[in-house]
Amino acid sequence: MRNYFFTDIFLALETVVFRNTLPLIPVYSFSDVKFPKGYDASLAAGAYTTIETDPVLLINVEYLCRKPLEYTINIVYHEMIHYFCDLNGIHDTDNRNGYTYHRKEFKDAVKENGEICC
Ligand SMILES: [Zn+2]
Repeated sequence: MRNYFFTDIFLALETVVFRNTLPLIPVYSFSDVKFPKGYDASLAAGAYTTIETDPVLLINVEYLCRKPLEYTINIVYHEMIHYFCDLNGIHDTDNRNGYTYHRKEFKDAVKENGEICC
């Protein structure tokens, strides 16, 4: 089930920051999603990924509990930058030794869209 609070944040950022260039995708809270075996969702505040090849944003409500709204907006924006990079063929992360790192291209995409976070 979609989380409409996070979807509203997505829509606001999509309009104000991305100027209507990102197609709407489902935004789920972690508690609504079944993860593959071995995936530790509790480690992440959010994720941009695919479910059966469809792109989605996942937001960890447990992680955001009792944090200010700005923090939640920041997490949604961060994942939207990953979505922006994916749509534009930008290689924004690397995996080394089981950890995901943000490349310079990710920071460049943040600067291109407006440094409201990250
Ligand atoms: Zn990231």
